[in-house]
Amino acid sequence: MIVVMEKGATREQVDHMVERIESMGLKAHVIVGTERTVIAAIGEKRAEAKQSLESGSGVSEVVPILAPYKVASREVKKEPTQVVCRNLKIGGGAIGIIAGPCSVESEDQIIKTARAVKAAGAQGLRGGAFKPRTSPYSFQGMKEAGLKLLALAREETGLAVVTEVMAIEDVDLICKYADMLQVGARNMQNYRLLEAVGRVRLPVLLKRGPAATLEELLLAAEYILNEGNPNVILCERGIRTFENHTRFTLPLATVPWLHGKTHLPVVVDPSHGTGHTWLVPDMAAASIAAGADGLILEVHPDPENAMSDGYQSLRFDQFNDTMTKCRKVGEALGKKL
Ligand code: PEP
Ligand code: MN
Repeated sequence: MIVVMEKGATREQVDHMVERIESMGLKAHVIVGTERTVIAAIGEKRAEAKQSLESGSGVSEVVPILAPYKVASREVKKEPTQVVCRNLKIGGGAIGIIAGPCSVESEDQIIKTARAVKAAGAQGLRGGAFKPRTSPYSFQGMKEAGLKLLALAREETGLAVVTEVMAIEDVDLICKYADMLQVGARNMQNYRLLEAVGRVRLPVLLKRGPAATLEELLLAAEYILNEGNPNVILCERGIRTFENHTRFTLPLATVPWLHGKTHLPVVVDPSHGTGHTWLVPDMAAASIAAGADGLILEVHPDPENAMSDGYQSLRFDQFNDTMTKCRKVGEALGKKL
């Protein structure tokens, strides 16, 4: 249920309603909007709870949340959520660009890439230190040594570091170095991991599972929100279909559809979404045209010799051209990149 407070309801009235909601065994999430404050009351609803809450002081109305995802839903929060992480702003009218290699490989590689993507206009630096690889024999990432290199690149450039967390036991370590946690496609439905990242203060970039519906993606986000972390960014990175001309099929209707259903920002990953460098610039521009709040792109100084995903990584000059293209599309829509 959503407890909609009257315009101008006092702090005491809101606190009182939170107490009442919690005393009913429900979880209360307070959402302060520009117009008014609402409190999402989450849990098994009891028939008498609605009536009882409606009588609270400062309460305008109590309405059911129809969507299966609650805190993520537009019904609860009309205004778009903006996630801010250093100079990286995603959502609520801001477009944020995260770029960098699939994997951190060396100091030279990550520092060069950080400088190049910053110069081209990115605000976030991606780079995997813990890599989810299809084969156990493939490069698994530099682990903590990679995290240290990412932190060094941040020191040098000021870019916000975005890196993947694959396991609950790594959350604390990664939080020491990262600015934003990425939950990868393969872990979208790892519910204990989602709860663990819901308990930290860093924003979470949640990638769509290649076989997950958008409702499942929103319910996965709900696990994070329900633990108290309000800064969740949804990422479309392509799904598995019968089509094999691309690595995955990148459905861009995801962007406006999600914007209709949730206040959470939506970014697109055209690198994994296509699996081919030459398709990335056009799909990046198309993502901006579809209304994406940001992009996450793989960029490498020497894609031919990359230790992972070189075939879909942009060289620095290609990333620069992609940014120019995306800026033009953004301008046409009255948005700045
Ligand atoms: C990645 O970002 O390098 C990655 C492994 O992505 P995904 O989880 O979308 O496959
Ligand atoms: Mn990759």
